[in-house]
Amino acid sequence: MFQQKCNRRDCLKTLTLSASAMAIPPIIQAAAGSRKPNIVLIFTDDQGYADLGLYGARGFTTPHLDQMGREGIRFTDFHVAQPVCGASRAALLTGCYPNRIGMLGAPSHNSNHGISDGEMTIAEMLKQHDYAAAIFGKWHLGHHPPFLPTRHGFDEYFGLPYSNDMWPFHPENPGGYPPLPLIEGETVIQENPDQAKLTTWYTERAVDFIERNQDKPFFLYVAHSMPHVPLFVSRKFKGKSEQGMYGDVIMEIDWSVGQILAAVKQCGLDNDTLVIFTSDNGPWLSYGDHAGCALPLREGKGTTWDGGQRVPCIMRWPGKIPAGAVCDEPAMTIDILPTLAELADCRLPDHVIDGKSIWPLMAGAPNAETLHDALYFYWNDNLEAVRSGRWKLHFPHKYRTLAGKPGGVGGVPAKYEQAETGIALYDMKTDIGEQTNLAERYPDIVNCLAERGKRFDEQLKQTKRQAGKIHP
Ligand code: MG
Repeated sequence: MFQQKCNRRDCLKTLTLSASAMAIPPIIQAAAGSRKPNIVLIFTDDQGYADLGLYGARGFTTPHLDQMGREGIRFTDFHVAQPVCGASRAALLTGCYPNRIGMLGAPSHNSNHGISDGEMTIAEMLKQHDYAAAIFGKWHLGHHPPFLPTRHGFDEYFGLPYSNDMWPFHPENPGGYPPLPLIEGETVIQENPDQAKLTTWYTERAVDFIERNQDKPFFLYVAHSMPHVPLFVSRKFKGKSEQGMYGDVIMEIDWSVGQILAAVKQCGLDNDTLVIFTSDNGPWLSYGDHAGCALPLREGKGTTWDGGQRVPCIMRWPGKIPAGAVCDEPAMTIDILPTLAELADCRLPDHVIDGKSIWPLMAGAPNAETLHDALYFYWNDNLEAVRSGRWKLHFPHKYRTLAGKPGGVGGVPAKYEQAETGIALYDMKTDIGEQTNLAERYPDIVNCLAERGKRFDEQLKQTKRQAGKIHP
C-alpha cells in the first residue's frame, strides 16, 4: 500500500512540486552580461542507446565521446520527440512536438512541405544576439528552397537535404529516388556524392567554422548523416572496429567529435562553449549487422518503446556543467531550445512551445527535477504513450517488430512484422526494458496518466500549427 501511495505521488508530480528546480543556479546569473556561450550541437542519425562507450557499447570504442562525457554530464533518461529522422529534427530545432508544427515522418524528394516560416528555430532565436550559425550535415525539414536552413536562421549550410538512403541505390526501392543532392548554401554542388567522405567533410567544415568565428558567439549544428544506412566510412576507419562496418562508422564519428573539441580548445573557447551530443532516434533494427543497439531497451527506431526514443546524450561545458555528473531525470530534445534561450538570454517564440529549460539538470543543481508533468510519445499524430516520473503508460497501438527474428545482413534489411499492444503500464525505474505490464496492479496510475494524456492531446490538437507548403 505504501508503495502504491508513493508511486501515485510520483505519478502526480506537478509543476508546483517541481518549483524548486526553477531556481536558476547562480552560475548563470554570474554569466549574465558576459560573453554569450557558443553552442555546438552534434546530432547523429539512428545511433542507439547502447552505441557509445559510456552507455555500454561493445565491439568498438568511443574514447573522445567517453572523455567528453566524463568531463561533463551524461543523461540516462533522455528522449527524442518522435522516433524518426525528420520529425525528430523538427522537434530539436523548434522546441515543439513535431505534430504541433505539422512536421511528421521523414520528408523525401517528393514531399511538398517543410518547416513553416512561422516557426522559430534555435538558429533564428540565437540571431537575436547576432550569433554566427551553421549546419553541416542532414537537414530534413524540407528540401525546397523556402525550407532550407539558409531561410531558417543559418548563415551556412553544407550537407544532404534528407536521408542518405533516399537515392537510386536504395536496397528495397532501387531506382525509386532521383540522385541524392549535396547542397552548399542553396545550390546543389554534387549528385550522389561519395558518402565515404561525408563524415570527414562535415568535420572539416565544423573545425573551419569554429576557427573563423572564434571572436563572436556561434551556433554550430553538426547533423551527421551516419550511422543511418547505407553505411559508409572513410578509408582511415575501415576495419578499425571488431564489430564491423557499424562500429567503424561510430568510431569515425567519435574521431569527428575529438576534432571539434580540439578546435574549441585550441581557439581558447573551452569555458565559453556548451557542446551537446545526442542522436535523432534509436537503431533501425531490421538492418541487423548495419544497425546499432538500444539494449536493454525495447525495440528501436519507428516505435514509441524506449528503444526508439531514448538516446545517449552527453553535454560538456567546463566550469558550468560539473564533470562526471549523471542525470537520471527524464528530458527530451524539445527542452534544448528553451534551455539555450535561458543561457543566451534570448526571447522565446510568441507561440506555444512544448519544451522546458533543463539548465538546473545540466548544472547539477541539488534535487533538480524535470519541469514537465509528463512527456508525450507520439507516432505521427497519434499519442501512443505518456511518461511521468517512473511510470510509462502505453495506449493500445500497433508497432513494428522483428519478433525475435534476426535482422538483415550487409545493408539489406529483414522484414518487420506488425504487432499490437493493449493498455500497458511499465515502471521505468525497475523495468527499463518495458517487459512487465503493471496496468492491472495500479489502475489509479493508469487512469491518472490516461487522463493526463487525453487532456494534453486535446489541447495540442486545438493549438497545433501547419507546416509550410509548396504548391507546384
Ligand atoms: Mg534517424
